[in-house]
Parts: sequence; structure tokens; C-alpha cells
Amino acid sequence: MRISQAFKFEAAHRLPNVPETHRCHRMHGHSYRIELVLSGRVDPRTGFVIDFFELEQVLGPLLRQLDHHCLNDIHGLENPTVENIAIWIWDKIRPRLQQLSAVKVFETAGCWAEYDGDEP
Ligand SMILES: [Zn+2]
Repeated sequence: MRISQAFKFEAAHRLPNVPETHRCHRMHGHSYRIELVLSGRVDPRTGFVIDFFELEQVLGPLLRQLDHHCLNDIHGLENPTVENIAIWIWDKIRPRLQQLSAVKVFETAGCWAEYDGDEP
């Protein structure tokens, strides 16, 4: 069984390693969407793979770290592409969520990265 939960945060960023002529070189903001995908067996008693409330508890501190901040200022996100944000989130929450199978980070409705813990 696979379950997903979506979260949102707003943040500013700029991409330091693109050419100066690239639009993402300039500071700008996005309404990011995170989707956590978990897979596992349905517990026969609870009926859950995992309680969504538990996911909120695990991701909450990270969301507070990201929301309405400049991502470039956060340790580990000096080059805050969606790829690097997905890896950053995965590395922080996977130890507490063994059923985590993917982290998706959407920068816009049409642009996202999906990380499943394999080699980045
Ligand atoms: Zn951007």
C-alpha cells in the first residue's frame, strides 16, 4: 500500500551556480509543495500504513525551518534546487520514517524533483 501526504511552504531562493543571465540567478520566491510517499503494510488494527498525524509531527520542524525563509541561508541548502531540497528533506526524515519511499518537491505546478534515496 502506498500513501501520500502533501505540504506547502513559501520561500525565497536564488541559484548561485547558474549563469548571471539565467532568471534563477536573481532572488525570487516560490510556493513549494512537498509530497511524502510512504509504502508498507496496512496495520490490521489501526487501518493505517502510518498515521498522517505522525507525518505532520515529523515534517513540522522542517517546514518551520523552510517556510518564509531564504533557502540559501539554510545549512545544506546553499544551492537550493528542487533536487537538493528533496535530498535534504529525505536525509533528515528517513531515519524516523522507515516506510518513506519518495520525497517530491514541486517548485511550480509543472516542475518537480522526486527522490527515493538512491544515488542522487
Ligand atoms: Zn526558483
